[in-house]
Order: sequence, then structure tokens, then C-alpha cells
Amino acid sequence: MSEIEAKVKITPRSEDFSEWYQDVIAAAELADYAPVKGCMVIRPNGYAIWENIQKILDQEFKKTEVENAYFPLFIPHEFLKRESEHVEGFSPELAVVTHAGGKKLDESLVVRPTSETIIYDSFSKWIHSWRDLPLKINQWCNVVRWEMRTRLFLRTSEFLWQEGHTAHASENEAEKEAKLRLEMYKNFVEGYLAIPVISGQKTENEKFAGALRTYTFETMTQDKKALQSGTSHNLGQNFSKAFNVKFLDEKGENQFVWQTSWGVSTRLIGALIMAHGDDKGIIIPTKIAPVQVAIVPIWKSDEEKKEMIGAAEKIVLKLQDVKFKIDKRDQRPAWKFFDWERKGVPLRVEIGPKDLEKNQAVCVRRDTGEKIIVPQSDLADKLPEILEEIQKNLFDRALKFQQENTHEIGSWEEFKNTIENKKGFLNALWCGDSSCELKIKEQTKATIRCIPFEQEEVLGQCVHCGKHAKYKVIFAIAY
Ligand SMILES: [Zn+2]
Repeated sequence: MSEIEAKVKITPRSEDFSEWYQDVIAAAELADYAPVKGCMVIRPNGYAIWENIQKILDQEFKKTEVENAYFPLFIPHEFLKRESEHVEGFSPELAVVTHAGGKKLDESLVVRPTSETIIYDSFSKWIHSWRDLPLKINQWCNVVRWEMRTRLFLRTSEFLWQEGHTAHASENEAEKEAKLRLEMYKNFVEGYLAIPVISGQKTENEKFAGALRTYTFETMTQDKKALQSGTSHNLGQNFSKAFNVKFLDEKGENQFVWQTSWGVSTRLIGALIMAHGDDKGIIIPTKIAPVQVAIVPIWKSDEEKKEMIGAAEKIVLKLQDVKFKIDKRDQRPAWKFFDWERKGVPLRVEIGPKDLEKNQAVCVRRDTGEKIIVPQSDLADKLPEILEEIQKNLFDRALKFQQENTHEIGSWEEFKNTIENKKGFLNALWCGDSSCELKIKEQTKATIRCIPFEQEEVLGQCVHCGKHAKYKVIFAIAY
């Protein structure tokens, strides 16, 4: 084992999935734990993925009449208390500032765990008439939730996200907006991150603190758990009543607005690692990869070095819309190959003296390890093709995995056995009763991840209590 291989040893997934996850993040130099427990340093390789996520989503938001703004990090503690469910839900995780400027503050401040309260305070000043609606605002920021058990990207005390907040004149419009945002996330995660999602409504137990209804999309990790990867909330008038966000309708009557909020975070990077990574490290899908092609010239002498780098530079001149990097580092080729693998670059192109003689290059796919020899004159056409195949293969592979690990459950015995021995997503009938859901959680750790939107006619009995079933839902052990 070479020096670098020893330094970045990755525990196999089959041995310890959680160790594997940590090792992959370290090997790809995505993030580190910070001196403050539970906080995360996002390194350039990790941040570049986040920047791509931001860029694409930001464009989508702007296409649909959303404007960006920025609200303060500090929120008067009293604001959170105005919506009773909201404060109850968030209190255990709050970081509270009691002293500043060398003095005890008259009123304590909360470091935002989410910004509904402070944004809706502004909305109450901005919105006057039906002409001001709909109002659609997004902010890219950090939030703080003091977590006891943390894991890089999945659950940290501070994380980066976007939070969209909208206000509407009618309940129907708000409902449409909440669903539109969920659909937008789903398309993004499936289309760019190549991760298949299941989506639907959260149960009362699992919904956002202060929402009327929460919609969610969940992804499956390779250890067959569910990862809530983003949510969209129909807030109804809960917050508009607490923050007095009113408008004069067309008849001149005062009404409270109907609201939504929705967000995705750096957790998506965790979802990506857990969906696609292998025992060599992370695999980044083409469409989100900061570097899509690593071109590795191979040389033995200084003269060859010049020649091979020259050949690589000639190749890239012809490339269009491909994000590439020519690896000019003075390291052994094997070291470089290994380095690009652990960093998850979708495609590697090798050019050595023999390849140059034959006017060819060797392409190596990160997802399958397959080597493809391509004539140099075809590279400009062939590379985008292979990159697209990689994107598609990653999605297909993840979808197959999700399907293979989704089980139809008929009885409570089967439920318990499946959760214990197979895990995955369990489709089962449920009575709709919150206390029954909690009992299932106590006994098996499984929770209802979502109530899928499209319900066929539900006939039968609740998988746990045997009462008349109202829904067919998806259970899983969640991160
Ligand atoms: Zn039940």
C-alpha cells in the first residue's frame, strides 16, 4: 500500500457504513469537524458542490418569480414565542445570546434556527393590499440548531441552506405553491444529483413545527435507511395571525395572508455521498460535478512531460461545455488516478507516449471502472456522451437499489421481520392515528416517512393495530 493509500484508507461499506461515510468525506477532502462540537468546516471540494447546487436552484427560483433577500442572523426571542407550536418544536435546539457588548441584554436573542418569524415581521410591513401578492422571497444563509448527535453534512449544529418564504391571497394558491416547490426539488434531485426520491405528505407527528401540512421528499441511503432531503410547508394562516400579516382584498376587506416556506440544505451533499459512493470514495454525478473530466498526462522524462501536457492542452481546446482539469502535478500516475477516484470525478482521461503514438486516449469511468479507448479526433464528441451515460447510470443504479429494497408489507410479523433483517422502505397500511404511529416507532424505530400523494383505494386494516386503514404509507428507519 502506497503512502497516500494508507493515509486515506476507506473502510468498506459492508464492514461499517458509518465509518465508510466519514472516511469518504475525509478522503475526498469535503469537510472537517470544527473546534466547536458539531460544527463543520466545508472544504473547497465540498463547497464547490454546494455552489453548483446553489447556482442551479437559484436559477429555478428566479424563473418562478422568487427574489433573493437577506434577513438578520439574530431574532428577538419573543418572536419565536408568538407561534406556540413553532417555539415548542425548536426550543430544545436553540442557541440563545444573552450577553453582547460586555453587558447582559435586556432581551435575549435567538440565533436563527429558521427564519419564518423574522421574515414575517418584515412581511407585515411590506404587504398592504392584494396587489402586493403573491410575495415570494428566498434567502441563502446559515442556520443554527444545537444538535446533540451530529454527522457531517447530515446533521450539524450550523448548516447552510436556502429558505423560501411566500405569501398568498388564498389558501388554494399557497397549497399550489407548496406543492410546486416540492416538485421543483424532486426534479432537481433526480435530474442533477441522480438520486430517485419518494415524495408525499408528512404525518402530524413528523410535520414542521407551526405548519398546517408538510410535504417531503426522501432518498434511500445504501444502508437502506431513509434520508429526509428537503421539505415544503403549507403554513396556512398560523404565522400570518401571529405576525399580523394582513392585506386588503379586492372587496376592501382585511384578510390574513396564506403562507408557505420551503428549504434544502447542505444535507443534499450527504444524500449524494450515501446514494452513490463506493468503497473507493464519493462518485459525483456529471451534472453537479465541479470537475467532470480529469485529464492525466503520463510521462517519464521532462521532455515527455512537455509533449504529453501539450497533447492534453490540444485536446481540451476542442472540448465544449465540459468542465475539465489537466493534472500537471509531479506525482506518479497511479497516485493521480487514485486521487481522482477518491475525489469522485466522473471521468478520467489518460494520455501516455504510447497513446500519443496511436492517436488515442484511455477514458476510465468512475462509476463502473470501465476503460474505453477513444481516438483523439473523436474525444470532443465522445466525452460528453460518456459523461451523460454516467449521469444516467448513476440514477438507474440508485433507482434499482431503491426498488429492490422497497417491500410490500401485509402483516405485523412481516413488518417486524423486514425492519429487523432487511430494512429499506416498507409500504404498509396505516389507520391514521398518531398514537399508533408512535407505538410502531417505539417498537421498531421505524417512522412514517411520507403518505404518498397518490393513494389508490385503501382497503384493509392497519398493519399495527388492525383498525380500518386510511392510508398506504412508507415506513423506514430514518437518519
Ligand atoms: Zn393503527
